[in-house]
Amino acid sequence: MIDLHTHSTASDGNLSPTALVEHACKMNLEAIALTDHDTVGGVGEALAAGEKNGFEVIPGIEISAESPNSTLHILGYYIDYRDNIFLQNISELQKARAERNPGIIKKLQGLGIEISYEEVIEESGTGLVGRPHFAQVLLKKGYVKNTQDAFDRYLKKGAPAYEDKFRFPPHEAISHILNAGGIPVLAHPNTLSCQNTAELESIVSDLKKYGLKGIEVYYSEHKSQQTKVYHQIADKLGLLITGGSDFHGNNMK
Ligand SMILES: [Zn+2]
Ligand SMILES: [Zn+2]
Repeated sequence: MIDLHTHSTASDGNLSPTALVEHACKMNLEAIALTDHDTVGGVGEALAAGEKNGFEVIPGIEISAESPNSTLHILGYYIDYRDNIFLQNISELQKARAERNPGIIKKLQGLGIEISYEEVIEESGTGLVGRPHFAQVLLKKGYVKNTQDAFDRYLKKGAPAYEDKFRFPPHEAISHILNAGGIPVLAHPNTLSCQNTAELESIVSDLKKYGLKGIEVYYSEHKSQQTKVYHQIADKLGLLITGGSDFHGNNMK
């Protein structure tokens, strides 16, 4: 078994890259790809931990791309994580994340919730602040039943404390990955919320024109019927088939 979709504390997971690799060893996996959101900050540490434990770690990333009414994430595998141009490009995304967070705080406070940005930063440990950290703080303070409740009531797209942020258009996310020597793969196609197979196929075939090389057909939240459809689309369009858990440690999302 290999897991091509995992997150560490470099984004919104709650295991450090080293602890994540050690966990994967213990679970008897053969390899993992570290695919933190919009950053390769944990890749160096994960590779070192892999080397120490004789375990294969694939350098990766998960880039959020623009998609007006849904969530479109592009995974990048085997990227040169030290490529300066790549790092410069994705630093725009980190800046956008940092700018978004105070906006979420303001909205939550406007809803009568007592929360400070300091509390959320503390929750994140050393990593980037993401919405799961807001969810954790809301949970600890008793405002929500669980983290999913926090997303549903406050944080998800369309919810009252949702704050949008800059994303690359899909073709740019793909070309940044290609230019850094990586393999771009469409993550969890279920989050594209397509009405039917034809709509999804047309989106995926556009992405392929930009250089997309694969689809994450196997994913923890895909139902068996969805998996079947994604498999067919991948076969029809000649795309690679990948699979991953989207492991975050105990954090959801
Ligand atoms: Zn994702
Ligand atoms: Zn993910």
